[in-house]
Amino acid sequence: MSHPLTSRVTGPVLTPDDEGFSDEVAAHNRAVVHAPDVAVGATSTQDVVETVRWAAEQGMPVHVQATGHGATTPVTSGVLLTTHRLGGVAVDPVARVATIGAGAAWTDVVPVADAHGLTPVAGSSAHVGVVGYLLGGGLGPFARSHGFSSDRLESVTVVTGTGEVVEASAGEHPELFWALRGGKTGLGVVTQVRLLLVEMPALYAGTLFFDIEHIDTVLRGWLAWTATADPDTTTSAAIVRFPPLEVVPPFLRGRTVLLLRVARPGDEGAGAAAAAPLRALAPAFLDTVGVLPVARSAEIHNDPTEPGPSWVRGLLLDRADGDLASTWLAHVGPDASHPFVAAELRHVAGATGPDVPGGSAVSGRGAAFVLGIVGADPSRFGEMPAAADAIVQAVAPWASAEVNPNFAGFGTASWAPSTADRLTRVRRTYDPAGVFA
Ligand SMILES: Cc1cc2nc3c(=O)[nH]c(=O)nc-3n(C[C@H](O)[C@H](O)[C@H](O)COP(=O)(O)OP(=O)(O)OC[C@H]3O[C@@H](n4cnc5c(N)ncnc54)[C@H](O)[C@@H]3O)c2cc1C
Repeated sequence: MSHPLTSRVTGPVLTPDDEGFSDEVAAHNRAVVHAPDVAVGATSTQDVVETVRWAAEQGMPVHVQATGHGATTPVTSGVLLTTHRLGGVAVDPVARVATIGAGAAWTDVVPVADAHGLTPVAGSSAHVGVVGYLLGGGLGPFARSHGFSSDRLESVTVVTGTGEVVEASAGEHPELFWALRGGKTGLGVVTQVRLLLVEMPALYAGTLFFDIEHIDTVLRGWLAWTATADPDTTTSAAIVRFPPLEVVPPFLRGRTVLLLRVARPGDEGAGAAAAAPLRALAPAFLDTVGVLPVARSAEIHNDPTEPGPSWVRGLLLDRADGDLASTWLAHVGPDASHPFVAAELRHVAGATGPDVPGGSAVSGRGAAFVLGIVGADPSRFGEMPAAADAIVQAVAPWASAEVNPNFAGFGTASWAPSTADRLTRVRRTYDPAGVFA
């Protein structure tokens, strides 16, 4: 017997016994395996409306997945609405606005925008979903020069918990619009966003690769440098223990290194001047920092593109100093014993500080750094929560009270208490029955 939703939607409706169910629910993060009662592959806004209404009638929760980059908790019941068929990107070059379907990843937006000499303020990975990323705010390689990516949202089309389609913007449903810019979950199913693009005719960016013996010096030197860093330069330092695996480029296999990522919109001269103190910290064994077409900005971080298992935990820091450097190195430096593959500090602040006119629910405007630890070896996943807890405890003196949802990973996101209360009120208004709870 066919599922009752089959007659209401045009996209696939799959239950666990159906062929294709596992592929439909698969997350980019293979550590998480979803097992909803039913998966619906939305092909239109109307499919979303019908699915939400049906779930509400049944008293079933609705979960949403685009790519599964943000998957941490397995869905074990209800409906999993997949949005990857809701693609489509169109750019209005005069208004400099991209209309982006909920199924798009940055890799779908960048070339379309680039054809008009424009670019989105995207994240480090081109394969992350645009909507999931923007709902958390979004801090990428241009965080200091351009701020949170959600600051450039013009409007968001949402299916609410009652199955209504609303367009939220500064002028329409402003409270919902405020919440969608950083409030992340429980606010409806987004089917489309309109995002302001920027011009970035020149970019100086890339990575300085430092060998294990320089990690201490470079990490300390970089953190000290951030205190007076050029406001247009965004940098991050990741200590990475590359496993001896085929997927790793041969020159990095089995090596522990520090990757210092640098991105400065603007010409080569100003970029080279900004990067000079970083190059002087120690000899890099590879230096890819140079003129980079903005359409290739995903090469700054070179995040993994293939799905795989990962365990992530992150938080924000209000500040960093020499003691933070010592604490960080004691826990994730070359001599530390831990189960993680990478430990990263991203310097943010700058344009991330000032809120948009009308405000937004973004968590972490006051933060100066994003801290992230990543595990990729499933045989050690069991050790990771306790190991991460120990790191979180050690850096507590520098930590922000807020934890941005895009970086919380297997931890818990948090907002300033007044923002959290206001988000609860917005969720009650637009999802009174708690369909998206
Ligand atoms: C390799 C990697 C690099 C990253 N780099 C950055 C970075 O530079 N900056 C940054 O800020 N974050 C970064 N992130 C975090 C990323 O932005 C979040 O994990 C984001 O939620 C991923 O969105 P997604 O749609 O790809 O993933 P999904 O797992 O599909 O979605 C995550 C969540 O977003 C919500 N969501 C997605 N689509 C919809 C929708 N249409 N309607 C309503 N809710 C929706 C749901 O709550 C869903 O559970 C990175 C993550 C990874 C794995």
